[in-house]
Amino acid sequence: MKETIEIEVNPLEFSDRERLKRIAAKKVGINPEDVACLRLLRKSLDARKNPVYRLRLLVSTDYEEERPIERNYRDVSNAESVIIVGAGPCGLFAALTLLECGLKPVIIERGRSVSERKKDIAMIARNVSFNEDSNWCFGEGGAGTFSDGKLYTRSNKKGSIEQVLETFVRHGADKSILTEAHPHIGTDRLSGIIKNIRHTITSCGGEYHFNSRVVDFIVRDGRVCGVRLASSETIEARAVILSTGHSARDIYELFHHRGWLLEPKPFAMGVRVEHLQQMINRVQYNNSKYMSVLPPASYSLACNIGSRGVFSFCMCPGGMIIPSSTERNSLVVNGMSSSGRCSPFANSGIVVSVTEKDAYQYASYGALSLMKFQQQCEKTMYIRNQTAPAQKISDFMNGRVSSHLNPSSYPSGLRSCNMNELLPDFVSASLRKGFALFDRKIKGFISSEAMLVGLESRTSSPVRIPRDGVTLQHPQLKNLYPCGEGAGYAGGITSSAMDGINTARRLAFNLSEKID
Ligand SMILES: Cc1cc2nc3c(=O)[nH]c(=O)nc-3n(C[C@H](O)[C@H](O)[C@H](O)COP(=O)(O)OP(=O)(O)OC[C@H]3O[C@@H](n4cnc5c(N)ncnc54)[C@H](O)[C@@H]3O)c2cc1C
Repeated sequence: MKETIEIEVNPLEFSDRERLKRIAAKKVGINPEDVACLRLLRKSLDARKNPVYRLRLLVSTDYEEERPIERNYRDVSNAESVIIVGAGPCGLFAALTLLECGLKPVIIERGRSVSERKKDIAMIARNVSFNEDSNWCFGEGGAGTFSDGKLYTRSNKKGSIEQVLETFVRHGADKSILTEAHPHIGTDRLSGIIKNIRHTITSCGGEYHFNSRVVDFIVRDGRVCGVRLASSETIEARAVILSTGHSARDIYELFHHRGWLLEPKPFAMGVRVEHLQQMINRVQYNNSKYMSVLPPASYSLACNIGSRGVFSFCMCPGGMIIPSSTERNSLVVNGMSSSGRCSPFANSGIVVSVTEKDAYQYASYGALSLMKFQQQCEKTMYIRNQTAPAQKISDFMNGRVSSHLNPSSYPSGLRSCNMNELLPDFVSASLRKGFALFDRKIKGFISSEAMLVGLESRTSSPVRIPRDGVTLQHPQLKNLYPCGEGAGYAGGITSSAMDGINTARRLAFNLSEKID
């Protein structure tokens, strides 16, 4: 007997394996002792009323082998090379796909390896020094390395989420990400996974060049055939994948300067709000008696204020707020968490949609107008080193500077400021209205115990690097494949990874069919 069943259990039943077996056996009409295999296929938490886990389980009277995760990474030491600029999730998954296609990835990364990068990040957090090429966004693993590592995406039409998750598991992620409805890795585990991916790539003959910032492309007869580095060194290859992420402003400037096609892209901007995790748990779990065995609760909030969206972004239960600027003299924050999500704080970006009209003062920059606006807002937030402006939410609503601030997870120091004065007017006005609506959904959202910290501005790319819908090459530059979040085709780790996979596959097809 082998059957897949769907059941609903309370959190205590879920954590007791024998009890779960009895419930499953009853459901399929056999004795619990006859269950030889009880395998979790899918798990989601429904906390709308009394929290319950919805489970999909495989129940069998015979032992069922788990399907091994197989990938055919080939030896590409002597194969044709393809340059990948940027070792974020997009670039790394593109590289792994090239190995499967028999092409040699040559990864060029401005930042440092993950171990060295950890030291740079510690220096930034402690306000000791700031490396513009190795920080929370730049370096091996890209913005995905020291992130929250939430792996869910709504872009399920773009490719196989399963393939991305399995590749993470193959490189060291916990298998639970394959069954969780909202998979999460955590920053403490991600760095090891990124190193394991490097090992796969180099052991098959792929190359990494760290501390190597690309400053230009080598173009012959409208075809990109290599890159020029800041060191003046040049590297040539059959094609170039451009996966530099949404913070590589110098790459957008380069395109603009050379007159290569770019488009402005709407993005969102706001603040990070921080509450006590216990308060969020109480509200989201309705004070459930199971609260002590449930994971730290999250939330997802959205509303429209006039024509603008105001929404929560990258909510990090049990996480911390971190400084994530890539430039000196500017201040950007984001959120991350460890696998255990064990901090006493819950933080989330609450952001407001920004369109080209909002950047009218920067219209002379053409496609870069939104990027220039974003950059200016980040400069306005700058106080000193990574000290971030902050305000209690209750004071923000009343336009008062907070007389003192609450304890916070932010590591680099906060200063009490009137955020209404630092944020663009349309952002602060939309946030105040949005907060008032969110307080109806989460009682206590507006309180003197909650704080906002600014600026959350790197939500997605403010620029799109266009590409042909079929060949995926830049319309003016043959053999150049813009992809991932920086080119405006993805948002988040999983969708960036999927875009990397799709781009590398298409590139391999184009080369094999001599299409350009
Ligand atoms: C703190 C934080 C938390 C996040 N949490 C989550 C989360 O929980 N879940 C989620 O889905 N997403 C999260 N994100 C977003 C996610 O990390 C990004 O969407 C994703 O990393 C984008 O992938 P990418 O490969 O397109 O670009 P990136 O990850 O940005 O990688 C681009 C790479 O290109 C390199 N590069 C840039 N310019 C050059 C150049 N000129 N020469 C050479 N190399 C260059 C950079 O150094 C970088 O390594 C988070 C981001 C941050 C900052």
